[in-house]
Amino acid sequence: MVTIKSKREIELMREAGRIACLAQKEIEKAIKPGISTYELDKIAENVIRANGGIPAEKGYPSGRKGIPDFPGSICASVNDEVIHGIPSKRAILKDGDIVSIDLVAYKNGYHGDCARTYIVGKVPENTKKLVDVTKQAFFEGIKFAKKGYRLGDISNAIGTYVENNGYSVVKEFQGHGIGAQMHEDPGIPNYGKAGRGIRLEPGMTLAIEPMVIMGNDSILELEDGWTIITEDGSLAAHYENTILITEKEPEILTKL
Ligand code: MG
Repeated sequence: MVTIKSKREIELMREAGRIACLAQKEIEKAIKPGISTYELDKIAENVIRANGGIPAEKGYPSGRKGIPDFPGSICASVNDEVIHGIPSKRAILKDGDIVSIDLVAYKNGYHGDCARTYIVGKVPENTKKLVDVTKQAFFEGIKFAKKGYRLGDISNAIGTYVENNGYSVVKEFQGHGIGAQMHEDPGIPNYGKAGRGIRLEPGMTLAIEPMVIMGNDSILELEDGWTIITEDGSLAAHYENTILITEKEPEILTKL
């Protein structure tokens, strides 16, 4: 069921979104060669808790036997890791890396979810392009995040833009509705046909998140049961915001 948020709920989601964005800003400032993804995790956790929130990814259930619940406050995915990388003291960023940070702040019963891919030091032009195209794919998608359009219009815009740039979108993971639950209906694929899917209505809150691979779209899961990597070893990037459908332009909730 797709929930329509009340004015009060939207106010609470703005606050959760603000905290999630604030955590990203602090991480962005800290990104440099030599820092570990464990340290980035601590920065995010401290920012979120200092603002009265909870890092909602910590302890997120795997739902699978033998796979522990997610141990981090953020997902930190380096280079060919696509999503759900586990923060680690051994994952030390170096010049030329990219790192995707996906985090969720929970406060007063509501969630704010956003992801960014950061460049560490100096990277080749084509790496920059991957990061830029992934971010722009989000903005191409939300051109259709308006009353009167359908969900498939967003999906189609993202997938088409990415493929026109010669990259692949991840097919097995997708964006999602968000609110009192981190993951609500509807699922929002990063590819698909325009004109299909549910009609967008004011009060819907959606986490739209292009996950883009430089090479082909095949992915693998590591033995930790969480980390998703590209099969061909090529780089991957991620960009996400929580947005609100309104009567007019969408409002990005994960902002300061
Ligand atoms: Mg996320």
